[in-house]
This record gives sequence, structure tokens and C-alpha cells, in this order.
Amino acid sequence: QPELSGDFASIMEWADAARRMKVRANAETPADARMARSFGAEGIGLCRTEHMFFDDERIVAVREMILSDAEADRRAALAKLLPMQRSDFAELFEIMAGLPVTIRLLDPPLHEFLPKSDEEIDEVARGMNISADKLRQRTEALHEFNPMLGHRGCRLAVSYPEIAEMQARAIFEAAIDAGQSTGKPIVPEIMVPLVGLLKELDYVKARIDEVAQAVMAERGVQLDYLVGTMIELPRAAIRAHVIAEAAEFFSFGTNDLTQTTFGISRDDASSFLETYRQKGIIEKDPFISLDIDGVGELVRMAAEKGRTARPDIKLGICGEHGGDPSSITFCEEVGLDYVSCSPFRVPIARLAAAQAAIRK
Ligand code: PEP
Ligand code: MG
Repeated sequence: QPELSGDFASIMEWADAARRMKVRANAETPADARMARSFGAEGIGLCRTEHMFFDDERIVAVREMILSDAEADRRAALAKLLPMQRSDFAELFEIMAGLPVTIRLLDPPLHEFLPKSDEEIDEVARGMNISADKLRQRTEALHEFNPMLGHRGCRLAVSYPEIAEMQARAIFEAAIDAGQSTGKPIVPEIMVPLVGLLKELDYVKARIDEVAQAVMAERGVQLDYLVGTMIELPRAAIRAHVIAEAAEFFSFGTNDLTQTTFGISRDDASSFLETYRQKGIIEKDPFISLDIDGVGELVRMAAEKGRTARPDIKLGICGEHGGDPSSITFCEEVGLDYVSCSPFRVPIARLAAAQAAIRK
């Protein structure tokens, strides 16, 4: 593991003494989680679970799940994934040893999971015992012209609540196991992505709560946990006081919030944004440095509305901006509790958070 040492470590210690905001990391693999800790991360602010499903042994089960039209078949496919997810999460909890870990429910654009080649169609069709033609039809029925604005985030959990239930079960079982093996109580934080409506969050939270009750009864233990949401759509920011009724924390997903506020695709923007910058239309790429006047205004408003509705709500940021010093200064101004960024940016974030606190 890279270690911070010598003068660098001393500067980091001074920074830690000066800052108010916590610094967490975005991490989903054990290697990233270890690196995050060695750089001083005080938890995981975003564990993106979609990347966990692309291994050869998992993707077939995921495809079977999405392309089955019977709930029982979907549950059978998910049962194959449960032990793998349980060990994914247990390992992260063990590495983080009682520090907070926020796990986000599945949030892929759906097309990333669909079979693409004839070979993949044949493989999944064989496993599901249906014809390749039938499977091709089902795959085509799920095609979207604009997947980033389509069937992703909590919308998937509403369509396929079994996925959220499987993930919640894996999280709770792993938290109990890791709590017992490390001797440190684990309080998992489950994050629901791409919420725009209170009822979306209510629906998914009810599934999570049911699973929590079932797991606690089966294991005969009590487990504390938090359920919260990403604020990454303008509607979520506008309705933050209402959404806060069902959310114990908000994490600002400023990548999507920038995309949806500007109406600029985060995946295709770079070429013309560079022209804009050269022509002086914008000063900085808003996907790198938070657009304080627009997107920032939504963050400020949602933070205030969230705190008004629920004074103890925990507020963080997990978009790329969480590791950008000028954006971190803004996060301090609006009083966020933590920033979360990629592991390599943790030292910069520690320093920037300290400078922001001192300046304030
Ligand atoms: C975001 O949208 O800012 C975010 C953190 O989620 P993702 O980048 O995974 O969409
Ligand atoms: Mg997002």
C-alpha cells in the first residue's frame, strides 16, 4: 500500500486538525478501499455496485434476471448472486473496520447489462431454457434511445424490487458478519440512486426495511442502518424538503446533477466544452469544477431544505467535484458534513477541506 510519510504526513495531520468536513472515498473494490484508508479516507462515501456484476460468472445471472418474465425466475437468478454480493460487502466492511460505508443500490444504464452478440444471446437463452429468438425479442424490448435518462437508478429497483431486496439482504448479512468478526458494530448506509419523487424513495425504502426486519429476525440480532438518497436530479433538489422525510442522508451526485441541470451529456461533452472555454463562454469545465452559480445553487437549496425538514440529516457529495479544491471550498460554505472522492484525491481533499475551513 502507498503510505503517506515524512513531511507529507505531517502536513496532512495539520490539515486534519484544521478541517471540519470529513473526507471519504469512492471505492468498490478491496484494493481501492485499502488504498483509500492508507490515504486517510474516513469511510466510503460511494460504493458503486454496478461494476460488481460484470465478471463472467455474474453477468449471465444478471442477464437471466433482467430478461426473465416471471418473478420466480428472477429470484432464482438473484439467489446465485446473493453469496457473491455478501462477500463483496463483508470484505469492504472488514477493511473499513467500523468507518461509515455507503453502498449504492444498482445504478447502471440498463443497456450495459443486455446481451449484445449472438453468442451472448445463445448462452443466456440456453440457461433460461427459451429460444434465442424469444430472448432477442425480450432484449430488443428493453432497448432505449437514451439510456442515461432511461431505465436506471431507482427506476430499476421499482421495476425489479427483487434486485434491491437481494442487495439489501447481502448488505445486512455482511454487516452482521463483519461486525462479529471485527468486533466493531457496523452501521451500513444504503443509498438509493436517481430519485426524483418521494414515492420512488418510499417504495424502495419499504423493501429495504422489510428485508432488514427479516434478516434481524433470522439472525436474532439488532442492526442499525441508514437509508438515504443521491440528490442528482434537479427535481430532487427542488423537492429536497419532501424527499428528506424518507432520507436519513443526502449525497449530492454532482456528475448527474451537472448533466441534467445543463442538459449536457456527461459522456459526450468534452469537445464542445473545450471550444466554449477557449471562446470564453465558460471559464471551467462544469464536470470538473462545480458550477457554483447554477448547479451549486441547487446544492445549496437542497442542503437547506433537507436540514429544515430533518435537522440531523447527514449531507455529503460523491460526484467528481468532491475531490476538486474549489468545489470543496463551496461544500464547506454550504456546510456539507463530508466530501467523497476517488482514493488518489483523498490527500488533496483533506488539504482543501482544511483550507476551506480556515478561510471560512
Ligand atoms: C453522480 O452522478 O455524481 C454520481 C456520483 O454517480 P455516478 O457518477 O455513478 O452516476
Ligand atoms: Mg449518478
